[in-house]
Amino acid sequence: MTNKAGRFDEYGGQYVPETLMNELNRMADEYEKAKQDPEFQAELQDLLNNYANRPSLLSYAKRMTEDLGGAQIYFKREDLNHTGAHKINNVIGQALLAKRMGKTRLIAETGAGQHGVATATIAALFGMECEIFMGKEDTDRQKLNVYRMELLGAKVNSVTSGSMVLKDAINAALQEFSARTDDTFYVMGSATGPHPYPLMVRDFQSVISKESKEQFKKINKKLPDAIVACVGGGSNAIGSFANYIEDPSVQLIGVEAAGKGVETDLTAATLECGSEGVFHGMKSIFLQTKTGQIKPVYSISAGLDYPGVGPEHAALAKSGRAQYVGITDDEAVDAFEYIARTEGIVAAIESCHAVAYVRKLAPTMSKDQTIICTLSGRGDKDVAAIGKYRGVDVNE
Ligand SMILES: *Cc1c(COP(=O)(O)O)cnc(C)c1O
Repeated sequence: MTNKAGRFDEYGGQYVPETLMNELNRMADEYEKAKQDPEFQAELQDLLNNYANRPSLLSYAKRMTEDLGGAQIYFKREDLNHTGAHKINNVIGQALLAKRMGKTRLIAETGAGQHGVATATIAALFGMECEIFMGKEDTDRQKLNVYRMELLGAKVNSVTSGSMVLKDAINAALQEFSARTDDTFYVMGSATGPHPYPLMVRDFQSVISKESKEQFKKINKKLPDAIVACVGGGSNAIGSFANYIEDPSVQLIGVEAAGKGVETDLTAATLECGSEGVFHGMKSIFLQTKTGQIKPVYSISAGLDYPGVGPEHAALAKSGRAQYVGITDDEAVDAFEYIARTEGIVAAIESCHAVAYVRKLAPTMSKDQTIICTLSGRGDKDVAAIGKYRGVDVNE
């Protein structure tokens, strides 16, 4: 039940019921047309520049570079985008496609609320109806983001099936999409799900590496030696990698959340601990039991606890073109404090997984080598949780 175009090596595809497959194929066709349409591309670029605040900066991390004493470190600053993360790049692209297809209603899944907020933001900007699916566990834990989405005019649907977390919210959103394709477009939050989502999300996020390559060349007249980005479903990482995949001298490193450690059950390190399977409409690598039950995942970082990974990452891992490593909660929290104190940046705890790996990698490289680390988002949302991790209650 798959079509060839949606494959990355053997991964990807379209493992969905027929009604949804017809709609996804319409979407894939329309996307191919939009990709070639200068008007669509111009509108996309205009929104990226004049609404989302692109291009994002490529900043040299001088103090961190000096402190670590190895490779020169640069940050690609997706934290400076409107709504505070890379997610807006993808949401603008998909919402424009939805408009092009004559849709008037956007739906999306969200875990901690970041993708839901980004989708609600664009729905407001475009004057579209918006409904967000969020596991009940998450609506209970993330009341601030629930209210933020409502403030932006979205309806938040608390999902009570399964374990009432992100994976169940995705199932609910896919179901809603199958049942109501006439006016509705499902805005997928990561480079995951059935074709054409992994391809489209990769393309929309590849603006990160398109910019970073030009910006880096201007400063250094060469290519960087390594790109480091955190991986949940893998959208900021695939966007950070995309324009370097054909440059074999550039090492690509995805950093997963190891949680309490890859040797424990409290982890989200899919590519280190997972196995092949089919879930959420795609063939990829998932954290699952021997009988194929999706395992509960754990990370201090809500944005990284997805039990799978996008199919292109599964293929890049298999071919060896990219490497994937794990960073624990403790290491990520240390990096959260470290980048704040050395660079004056409060970065998202997700992004701090990448920063933590850069702290290990840079000292092993020489001073004429360079690393670009993507800061996928800003860390204001995490300050209270990190305080709690350190025994400080910021609400007292
Ligand atoms: C959602 C999120 C991630 C993880 O998602 P990817 O699709 O893997 O990029 C990482 N960082 C931030 C700040 C996020 O909001």
